Amino acid sequence: MDRQQEHVIRSVAEHDIRFLQLWFTDVLGVLKSVTIAPGELEGAFTEGVGFDGSAVEGLARVFEADMIARPDPQTFQVLSGPETGLARMLCDILTPEGKPARGDSRQVLKRMIAKAEDAGLAFYTHPEIEFYLFDAEALAEGRLLPIDNAGYFEHTISARGTDVRREVVSRLEAMGIPVEYAHHEGGPGQHEIDLRYADALSTADNIMTFRTVVAEVAQENGVVATFMPKPLIDAPGSGMHTHLSLFEADRNAFFDPAGQYQISLTGRRFIAGLLRHAPEFTAVTCQHVNSYKRLWGGGEAPSYICWGHNNRSALVRVPLAKPDKSQSARVEYRALDPSANPYLAFAVLLAAGLAGIEGEYDLPEGAEDDVWRLSGSERKALGIDALPSSLHRAVELFEGSELMAQTLGEDAFEFVIRNKNREWQDYRAQITQFELARFLPLH
Ligand code: GLU
Ligand code: MG
Ligand code: MG
Repeated sequence: MDRQQEHVIRSVAEHDIRFLQLWFTDVLGVLKSVTIAPGELEGAFTEGVGFDGSAVEGLARVFEADMIARPDPQTFQVLSGPETGLARMLCDILTPEGKPARGDSRQVLKRMIAKAEDAGLAFYTHPEIEFYLFDAEALAEGRLLPIDNAGYFEHTISARGTDVRREVVSRLEAMGIPVEYAHHEGGPGQHEIDLRYADALSTADNIMTFRTVVAEVAQENGVVATFMPKPLIDAPGSGMHTHLSLFEADRNAFFDPAGQYQISLTGRRFIAGLLRHAPEFTAVTCQHVNSYKRLWGGGEAPSYICWGHNNRSALVRVPLAKPDKSQSARVEYRALDPSANPYLAFAVLLAAGLAGIEGEYDLPEGAEDDVWRLSGSERKALGIDALPSSLHRAVELFEGSELMAQTLGEDAFEFVIRNKNREWQDYRAQITQFELARFLPLH
């Protein structure tokens, strides 16, 4: 065992941990966990914990089912909540031969991060996570009842939403996951919590923790939390805008005091990479049929491929920031939604940005208009294309992408295609209330 593993074993004793949850993530971004007693920890570090990988979406084929989860000691965290004595670690998934499992999305991100490191670049992310809170009792009766009627940034004195948000923030802080902002969002019952920026792997791990903590706190308060991108037709969807930056040692590689908006050439090429490859990776950043209801349903979700400075209709935004951007220069990618697998999403965003840097892509002019209000021909004249309009189209573009095949690796790439095609087929087979109301005279 190495020093970090020994440190975890000591911490387990110090904090009186009774149960250790070993977490990992399937290809869709769904959290999986297996609990072990402290006595099993040493074995988990040295040999890992065996499980049937073929029963986990996107991890292994039936004929190579045996898989091993090996906890990453750096991710040890005591869980904060009503029950004490619980801790968690994130795992890497290995084959019985001890090789990284190719379908493990955490390792897909690790591979991309290592690629950036080879070029001397460290990747940092800062997500703004939006979600809705609905009344649990009403939901059990089939009614979607948001738990409040407040709006954007509204200061609510006493509301269940505020209680949930406050409790989530204090639990995250207690677990060493710093929160930057928390506020009410534009829809009824819609809230946002922004995690402070961190290296992309820690951020992805933190998002998995975040989603669990939100779900738990909500449940304790008689509320159901959802990261579904568009639960209500008439209210904004939930996005997970993410701020991206690259550092070269302790220098922000996106900063150049002489550049437009103080963004360096590296930053411009990174943005150009995001724009050029967005159609190919949208099946990952917006992975569900419902994601496209958000992208095309208004409420400030981006639909068109362009970048801008202080322009909220743009897909990529260079945020107005502090006067001195030497540390905070960054770009905000706005299409990502909170139902995504954060490991795969960060891997494809990084891959696209690095492709822009390596390929020295030119950045087109920024958009200053509200691109939602332009006509189709005006957008065409400006060279502004649209994001895919459906999961079906997004998967077609993903499937044809060399960059995506390389980034995800053969197994994860195939699993995503297979899973998303199945989702599309299941969805296409539905006969909706909309169709019944419109085409069947029900009176
Ligand atoms: N909820 C909007 C979205 O779906 C974003 C609102 C905002 O600008 O924070 O992306
Ligand atoms: Mg927001
Ligand atoms: Mg934002």
